[in-house]
Amino acid sequence: MLSSNKKQEEYRKKLLEVLPDSDTLTQCMHCGMCLAVCPTYEKTKNERSSPRGRIRLIKSVAEEKLPVTENFINEINFCLDCQACETACPAGVHYGHIVETARELTTILNRNKSPEIWIRKIALNNILADKFIFKYVSKLLFIVQKLKLDKFFANLKITNLFIQNAGELLKLLPEFSSKSSEELLPTIIPPKGEKKFRVAFLTGCLMDTAFTETNLETVELLTKLGCEVIIPKNQVCCGSLHAHNGEMQKSVELARKNLTAFSKYEYDFLVSNSAGCGAFMKEYAKIFKNEPELSQKAEKFSKKVQDITEFLSNRELNYTFKEFNKSVTYHDACHLCHTQKIVNEPREIIKSIPAVDYRPLEDSTWCCGSAGIYNVLRYEDSMHFLDRKIERIQKTGAEVVVTGNPGCFLQLRYGLQKKNVNCTVEHTASFLNKLL
Ligand code: SF4
Ligand code: SF4
Repeated sequence: MLSSNKKQEEYRKKLLEVLPDSDTLTQCMHCGMCLAVCPTYEKTKNERSSPRGRIRLIKSVAEEKLPVTENFINEINFCLDCQACETACPAGVHYGHIVETARELTTILNRNKSPEIWIRKIALNNILADKFIFKYVSKLLFIVQKLKLDKFFANLKITNLFIQNAGELLKLLPEFSSKSSEELLPTIIPPKGEKKFRVAFLTGCLMDTAFTETNLETVELLTKLGCEVIIPKNQVCCGSLHAHNGEMQKSVELARKNLTAFSKYEYDFLVSNSAGCGAFMKEYAKIFKNEPELSQKAEKFSKKVQDITEFLSNRELNYTFKEFNKSVTYHDACHLCHTQKIVNEPREIIKSIPAVDYRPLEDSTWCCGSAGIYNVLRYEDSMHFLDRKIERIQKTGAEVVVTGNPGCFLQLRYGLQKKNVNCTVEHTASFLNKLL
């Protein structure tokens, strides 16, 4: 048994190791500019559910004025980590990093005893992080969906007895494929026509087995644009979901594997079709900045990462879309607009489509409630944010809503179907590929 002094010393050590330093925690000047854009503050109107309120809570924990209580954990997990507050903040507070360290602290201290922590841990560490297991889980889910067992269980009341809202969560599932995109694609795919660029592509985890068609369409789009596409062997999940959910150690492990896999190839850009993955791969440089053997490699890697819409804005690519005679709106994925600051590119690309009727979406940068696995872990809260989003989409009258992140895609599709809104969701890459 550790003495209480020893325990206190260890606790203090963990606080110092994980939480940001006092300069970072005092950067917030309490101006309140972030309150108007914070979805959780809008929901509760409680200061502690706001960015500055949470920063204060985390600062109090760091200064040992507040213990890590259940209420603290709940407030930290209530946050969507959408980073809208970062966009609004005049002081340049990197709130996303601050809240992620608080989540990591609760993981390290093992203080989070809620049932969803086990779902989170198993899903992230035992399934998504292990490519082999994830592929087999995906194949199993493919069979379950083929036999329509998911639909059968989704409509049974008894399903919810085991996991709260399990029936609804089954409806949120993507359609799994019998073969992943990595199994279907060769390592090197030649361009269609003259070669302009050599681009690497991350097949991802969920994108690989549940958005297989989107990955194939993204690769097709790239080859149509004159790219030779490289799909490095031994690549793994980017680690973003782990980092956002307090499993930083696992995310670093995954990032390390990707650096090794991608560094075996020479390429001009690494194109991503998932906002969350792209944003996190751009962070690899920061993660490894203090590791002399990896820092340069990570910096080179991150500099080359581009979202598909960022890449399509490259003037050297000369393309014209086919006509599209429908009304289209665009929903910003948080990790594209707030983290990567990519806002104009997708809109300009959509507006350049001949005959398209582009309809601006009110509060388009407001989180849809998907937020990684937030909708699985906090279904009820997530639905509050989704309802707001669906109402805004309905107001545009658009027939199609385009978005660049798999989580947003599933969340919007679920919300539109639930509310019987006559509007289909398209992933940006699939949508554009059909028009090229
Ligand atoms: S990340 Fe989003 S939900 Fe969390 S505090 Fe910032 S604005 Fe609010
Ligand atoms: S906008 Fe930035 S500085 Fe102002 S209260 Fe929010 S986090 Fe603090």
